[in-house]
Amino acid sequence: MAASFVDTARISVHAGKGGGGAVAFHREKYVAAGGPDGGDGGAGGDIVLQVDDNMSTLMDFRYKRKYVAENGADGQGARRNGKAGKPLVIRVPRGTLIRDAETGEIIQDMSGGEPFVLCRGGRGGWGNAHFATPTRQVPRFAKAGLEGESHDVVLELKLLADVGLIGFPNVGKSTLLSVVSKAQPKIANYHFTTLFPNLGVVYVNEETSFVMADIPGIIEGASEGAGLGHDFLRHVDRCRLLVHVVDVSGSEGRDPTADFDAINAELARWSPELARRPQIVVANKTDIMEDETLLDALRAHVEPLGWPLFPLSAASHAGTQELVQKIAELLAKLPPVKVFEPEYVPRPPAIDADEPLEIESEDGVWYVSGRWLERLMANVNFSDYESRMFFDRTLRECGVFAQLEERGVRDGDTVDLYGLQFEYQK
Ligand code: GDP
Ligand code: MG
Repeated sequence: MAASFVDTARISVHAGKGGGGAVAFHREKYVAAGGPDGGDGGAGGDIVLQVDDNMSTLMDFRYKRKYVAENGADGQGARRNGKAGKPLVIRVPRGTLIRDAETGEIIQDMSGGEPFVLCRGGRGGWGNAHFATPTRQVPRFAKAGLEGESHDVVLELKLLADVGLIGFPNVGKSTLLSVVSKAQPKIANYHFTTLFPNLGVVYVNEETSFVMADIPGIIEGASEGAGLGHDFLRHVDRCRLLVHVVDVSGSEGRDPTADFDAINAELARWSPELARRPQIVVANKTDIMEDETLLDALRAHVEPLGWPLFPLSAASHAGTQELVQKIAELLAKLPPVKVFEPEYVPRPPAIDADEPLEIESEDGVWYVSGRWLERLMANVNFSDYESRMFFDRTLRECGVFAQLEERGVRDGDTVDLYGLQFEYQK
């Protein structure tokens, strides 16, 4: 069986590098020696993720694995700054979890509408115009741009729906969704027709609606990875309520009660928590029911579990509105759809403190640069306290302050690390 429904993908993303600062000097007809006027490099483009509700699988990521945002342009003379690199916007289906590829930790749950910056572009380097001071009129140096951040991530789709339809293939899940919502899922009388999850909005009344997902058929053994079901179970993880559809017609020689138990056993093997999720049991295809004792047996089995049972016929719409009302009533009492909190804490980059640092000093300002420092700075989130502490510790441990001391830095001097300036305090 060719399972072509793609709900995980591993990709590698790289934000753009910042452009270099320019070393240039102002030239004018009657001015003998112009001042430094090299502009700054432009910032590299960010990698931005954005929800796209027209997508329902991660298929697009199967053939494209590497995403690189534009670099910033170099600065030029006459204080012309380089153009910033364009951000690269990667569209994902709503409900996609972004995980760190190494640890599996959640970086972001793409459930809301807000764009998410996964990797920041590198800052542009300063042109020499920046380094002009009253005494240093002719700075002959500018700074290179910083590398953009990069990250290997795994995308995992966990659909965002209030209600998940579960049940064996062919029991009428897609039909039910098409009847109660405006979704138009594929309906056919053979197994495994649904290879894409379908989402439909069900309008109950003017104030109330909910999202229902048609999850491709779960089959026995699915939780152990046999067949398609395994991949699909993750999609019901977040549903607040499960609508468990059972075919009670007996037309395929199936025993509805045994089917019901088999699906629940699968759910429990996949996740005991999911097995406790509230269910409404739909006894479908009552229009062609030949043996009413099958329905009676199912009812006697289900009701002691405390779950409501709705005999109906999706195909002829009989009983579907009552079901919708019941779903709305239960949803009103249930907690909202689960949104995952980020778990990922950025790892410190590999640092090779043996790589030399370059220290230039001018008028009480100390300009420090070097490859590892550049990499470190590209990875530190300066708006986060913990990250700043880590940064400070790393500078200390790698001897940056010791080297500055050696060169004669004094309390109150300014230290400049790729444009990040602070006052030196022992
Ligand atoms: P799914 O695999 O669970 O999504 O099942 P589908 O919705 O694709 O339906 C499978 C077959 O059962 C299709 O031929 C439907 O037309 C048929 N079907 C669905 N609901 C009913 C029903 O209430 N009565 C009858 N007679 N057939 C139904
Ligand atoms: Mg279907």
